Order: sequence, then structure tokens, then C-alpha cells
Amino acid sequence: MRIPSRYVMAFMTASLLSSVSAQQSATPAPQHEPALDVTSMDRSIDPCVDFFKYSCGGWMKNNPIPPDQSSWDTYSKMQDENLGRLRGILEAASAPDPKRNAATQKIGDYYASCTDEKAIESKGAEPLKPELERIARLGSKADFADVAAAMIQENVLFRFGSIQDYRDASQMIAEADQGGLGLPDRDYYVKDDPKSVDLRKAYVAHVQKMFELLGDKPDAAAAEAQNVMRIETALAKGSMTRVERRDPKNLDHKMTTGDLEKISPDFQWQVYFTKVGLPSLASLNVASPGFFKALNEELDKESLADWKTYMRWHLVHADAPFLSASFLNENFDFYGKTLQGKKELRPRWKRCTDEVDGGLGEALGQVYVEKYFGPEAKQQALKMVKEIDSAMEQDINALPWMSAATKQQALIKLHGMANKVGYPDKWRDYSKLDIERGDELENVERARKFEFDRQLAKIGKPLDRGEWDMTPPTVNAYYNSQMNDINFPAGVLQPPAFDPTSDAAPNYGDTGGTIGHELTHGFDDEGRQFDAQGNLRDWWTEDDGKEFVKRASCISDQYSTYTIIDDIKINGKLTLGEDVADLGGLILAYKAWKDDTKGEKLHALDDLTPEQRFFVGYGQSWCGESRDETKRLRATVDPHSPEKYRTNGVISNMPEFQEAFHCKAESPMVNQNRCSVW
Ligand SMILES: [Zn+2]
Repeated sequence: MRIPSRYVMAFMTASLLSSVSAQQSATPAPQHEPALDVTSMDRSIDPCVDFFKYSCGGWMKNNPIPPDQSSWDTYSKMQDENLGRLRGILEAASAPDPKRNAATQKIGDYYASCTDEKAIESKGAEPLKPELERIARLGSKADFADVAAAMIQENVLFRFGSIQDYRDASQMIAEADQGGLGLPDRDYYVKDDPKSVDLRKAYVAHVQKMFELLGDKPDAAAAEAQNVMRIETALAKGSMTRVERRDPKNLDHKMTTGDLEKISPDFQWQVYFTKVGLPSLASLNVASPGFFKALNEELDKESLADWKTYMRWHLVHADAPFLSASFLNENFDFYGKTLQGKKELRPRWKRCTDEVDGGLGEALGQVYVEKYFGPEAKQQALKMVKEIDSAMEQDINALPWMSAATKQQALIKLHGMANKVGYPDKWRDYSKLDIERGDELENVERARKFEFDRQLAKIGKPLDRGEWDMTPPTVNAYYNSQMNDINFPAGVLQPPAFDPTSDAAPNYGDTGGTIGHELTHGFDDEGRQFDAQGNLRDWWTEDDGKEFVKRASCISDQYSTYTIIDDIKINGKLTLGEDVADLGGLILAYKAWKDDTKGEKLHALDDLTPEQRFFVGYGQSWCGESRDETKRLRATVDPHSPEKYRTNGVISNMPEFQEAFHCKAESPMVNQNRCSVW
């Protein structure tokens, strides 16, 4: 439900599809594996041949993908344990006679409405009625703006919100961006391979079924589905690719509202701006002007009736997860089974827990950190962040390929980076969001509206640097280039990723690597284009910039040779930022660990030297596997490489690894053309 800011570089693959979130079954038990678990290893494998399998072979055997999951890994297991904790909080808050304050009232009643399957079932498609009528009443294309403004969170036509000004990061401005598709990426509409063609057929069949569920006759529904496909294909063709969007310069198009009106004159922008509460908006960023040109052509070309069909589809599509079983299951059938290969739907309590986290994450998170994230954990994590920071400072100073002038700028950026650990200093105020025990979809819509208005209320105001893009219980982390901050939610600072009772080596390999990864994002191919304040400004000398590009292309060439599934290789240009961050991150973690333990006599444990434990700790942070369908999906939409290569691709570039495991120079885990950026 939440649309995170564009420059949030998450540590790992979050939910791939916004309308279907991911997680798993099995009753959670608050027991956890150690930071380094020897039973997860496969010691019959030579670490110099396949380090991923050596670190994770046992884990893979012991952890088959649960039927309601698209993939399963160390972090999804942690997330699952977390769901159990959150469930306890939500059940207490929704009990018949709970003791609660304004925040726990909201999370409790939201959860109670979502878990009331009987009430949801009895309503069928009824909750969609007011919106369907609004679409039916549309008398002319000129009135689109009205409906689009009302349906913005349903991803109708395009996306609209706020963003930091690329040229002045301290200011928030409005932004319009491409959107309006039902498939996960524009590539799905244009690729010609047999799998893509089949998937499009399955998609059209799904759209048809949804229209039938709304009461349309099969023949009519089939024709309607074709109309939707035709319109979305045209929008997709006008959309930028993910690789194009990784270069922020391609998205920086601040213009007057008059300029936007010239690009898409058939859309009533003034009506739209007035309707969303911005009647005197003068300028905005138009991230993808080509899309709005294509949209205008379509507005012109397609009939009013076909546009109404398109809007009905997006309405039912966005709301299906919150409706009765027939809608819910048909939605899961396509987005869960066909697209991701899941076998079954997650239990309702898990979906509802995620839903409350999505809509009221800082209210839920406040209770969560009180119970599960103490001040010691925060102190320990901050200490590690500072050590990694200082490793980066040493690294920059020692870089052989960078001039003193660029180094000076890089250090300014590093010192300007804010480190956020656990949860925000100031909790979000949800007092304007009204949650009532009762209708599930009404609560969802109010939460969407609240978030949309909250985003728009920032426009024309100075930036709030305290804000977070992830909720405290989230098992993930991120760097935001425009904020120049790294963020570690309380949820990821838990065992086994972060285990205060473990020896230092695996903790540094795992959480140290995560911290280093986020920090390096500030200096990857995308992040390096922003300065310390988050402005899109080139602070590199020309020669250093060229050298960076050369070194980074070594990495994209390396990863582009790895196969994901069938004949699909990693798109090394899509994953470049993450791959650079993975390598830089582990190098920094290694340095920080060595500094932290300088002068200490470190001992072997479990027949592993301290150095080996560092690397196995890292390898085990990536134990996991995806279903074939999900591998194909990730190949198109995910900027992260598959777990296996996040391990092997990184360590094969590190001489420290080769030394730790005494690998011969020609071993598979030694990259002959060693890449090094940071
Ligand atoms: Zn990342």
C-alpha cells in the first residue's frame, strides 16, 4: 500500500508486487538460529568451488519453500518470526475489551476488520459499488481528471505524489510519473519470447474473469479484457525501462504545469490538481514525459466506453485482496500462482498483519519496539555503523584510482550521511486517519487516502529529514540518495542476522555487510550522482568519473554472465547498484571487523578460523531459494541479483576470501578478472 520514495535502495527483495504481498505459514516460534549455524553448511562441498553451497547446502535441504511462499530465505524466516510477534500485539489491541490508547485503537480495529472473514464474505462485491457508479456516471473524457483524482491509489492512468526537488533536495515538490499497468513491468507487454506471450494470455484470461465476477457476461468480459490489454500495452510502450530509470538524470524534468498541459492537453490537469487539493500548483517534476505523451494519444484514440472498462479493471484489481473469496482467490490465482509460483494463499492473519503494518506501520511499530528492541541493541548497532563509517573513510583515503579533489568531496558526502537505527525519533501522527471496526475496504481506502494526502501535504514545504520509508518491524534496510541517510529498522537488527551473543566474525559478515552495503549505495552508480545534501549534482572530476564507470562496468560484465533460470541471464545493468553495494559492503565490514578486533587473540570455532567464520556468516545471510516463476519475475523487476550470486559474485572478488580458504588462483571462486570499485 505504501509507495516508497524512488531512491530507497532496499537491502533485499521486498514484496515484488504491490497488490500481493509475500510471506509464509508455519506457527512462529521465538527461537532462532545462531549467527553462524554449522548445520546449515554442506562441508562436503569445496568452498573454493561453490561457496554458496558450502555455506547454505544444509539450510537448503532443511528449509524447503513453504507452499504459500514465492521464495524462502534467511530473512523471510526472520520476517515470519516477526509476524508472530506482531500478531500478539494486534490480537491484544483488538480483543473485545482491550486497554488501549488512540494508536492501539486504530491498529486493533484495523486488524479486527481485516480478520472478520464472515463480514467480508457476506458483502461480496458490494463495497465496490460507489466507485463503480462513479465510473459509470462518467459522461465525457473531459471528466477523467475527476475520476483519476479519486482513484489515484488504485494506480489508474499514472502515479502522482511528492518528491524532493532534484536540484534542491531541501524542498518538496509535486511529481507525476508513469503507471497505470496491471502487469509488474512494461517489459511484460513488449517481450516476444514464448513465456511472455503465454503470460500475457493468462493475464487477459484473468482480467476477463474479474469482469465476470463483477457480473459481466463471458463474451462481453472477454472483449473488455482485450480492451484493457490494448490500452495498457500502449501505456507500457510509452513507459521507460527499469534500466533507463536507474539514471536519475533521465527522471529529472521539472516544468511548469503549463508545460505538462502542452505534453498531454487532453487531460484536464487543472481539474485534477484542484481535486487533489493543489489548485495553485505552479510547477512539478514530470519523471517520464514520454509516458504522458503516450497517455495523451491514448486518451484521444480510445473511446470513452473503453476507458471506463480500463478504470473498472483497475478498481477491482486494486481492491480484490480486500474483497470476498471469489475476488481474493482469482487475484491470487494469477498474481500468486501464475506469476510467482506460490501454491497457496497465506493465512488471513498474516495478510492482515502486513496490511496493518502497511497502513499504520509506525503505530504498530511503536508498540513493537517497546517490546522487542531495547536501547542496548540500538547502541550496539550504532557502534557497528560508526565502525563501518570509519572503514569507509580509510577506504576512500587509500583508494589508488581517485584524485584528492574527488576524495575530498566523497568524504564530505560520507560525513553528511545520517545513520538511523531502529525507529524514527518522532512517530507519525495518525490522528487524522479514522479507523473503524467494521468495513474492511473502507478502512483500506481511508488509509490510502491518508497516505496520499500526507504525501501531497509535503509539497512546497521544506524536507523533513527525520522521516523513514520503512516501518520499524520491517526485516530489511535501505539507503536513500536524496536524503543521504542509511536506515536499519528494528526488525532487521534481530538474530540470526544480528546476534549479540555470537562471536564478532559472523555478525560482521552478516549485519556488518548489510551496513556496508547501505553505505556503499551512497557511492554506487546511482548514488554517486547525488551530493551530501541529496542534490543531483556531479561532484566528480571528469577523470575520476570515467574511472568509476570503467570499474563499475567490470562488475556489470561479471554479473551478466550468471544464469538466473533457463537462458535468462542477470541484467547486469539493472543490478549494478546492488552488486556494487554488495562488494563494497563486505569489504568495509571486513575492515571494520579487523579494526574492532585488533590486538585480540581470535580463536577457531566449529573447525573454522575467524576469517572463515566471517565469510560463512556472510554466506549464510543469503541462504535461500526462489520458485522458477519468481526467478523469471525477479529477472525482469528486481535490481538485486539472486542470493547465490550475491554470495559467490562478491567473495570471488576478494583476495581475503581466497586467503581464508586457501583457494588456488584458478579456482571457480576466484574471479580471474577481479573487479574492485570501493
Ligand atoms: Zn541495496
